[in-house]
Amino acid sequence: MSDKITIAVSKGRIFDEALPLLAKIDVIPKDDPQNSRKLILETNKNNVQILVIRATDVPTYVERGAAELGIAGKDVLLEYQGDGFYEPIDLGIAKCKMMLAGLKGVKKEITRPRIATKYTNITQNYFSNFGKQVEIIKLYGSMELAPILGLADQIVDLVDTGKTLEANGLVPYERIADISSRLIVNKASMKLKSTAIKSFIEKLSDVIEVAE
Ligand code: AMP
Repeated sequence: MSDKITIAVSKGRIFDEALPLLAKIDVIPKDDPQNSRKLILETNKNNVQILVIRATDVPTYVERGAAELGIAGKDVLLEYQGDGFYEPIDLGIAKCKMMLAGLKGVKKEITRPRIATKYTNITQNYFSNFGKQVEIIKLYGSMELAPILGLADQIVDLVDTGKTLEANGLVPYERIADISSRLIVNKASMKLKSTAIKSFIEKLSDVIEVAE
């Protein structure tokens, strides 16, 4: 059995922050990822290749074994709600918070608020935990617009510096979760390719910065 390892990585900020981490364990793409249009990047390691894919697709590739490993944000993993993978390490990259937010100066406590978000499962679970009824409005981006235009009362979204909220007249209400990127591992591969995968996990654990 070949011990080839395919790592599915969320494109964008997570990919940009994961590359230096992979370089520290001497896994370096052969082509310049900024200029390459390839979706599968070969690396200096014969047995390691990197897929650069949409964040929400990473858990699907790993759960179904199309990739042995994945790097995805905890937001995506919580929303996915699958259990076909292990989550052995917090990589401590692409950190932010998932927040409930609303318009500045507007009453926060309302009956059955309309919440705009792309994280419908996380939002539903969060409010169900304390028995509050909400109406969830699924959006795919620019959630901040929804309260401004009266489409929703509040939003659930990722917040890093808080500048996007502020620039759109919104204020944070509650922190729903701390988010960072995690390494995920296909459950069957952990057994079938255990030597290669365990060695990869150990090396990566050694180079990640200890969370503050
Ligand atoms: P900020 O203005 O720094 O609070 O950033 C907020 C914007 O960046 C929102 O549109 C978020 O969806 C996005 N964002 C913040 N942190 C992350 C992250 N770690 N991963 C993906 N998107 C993020």
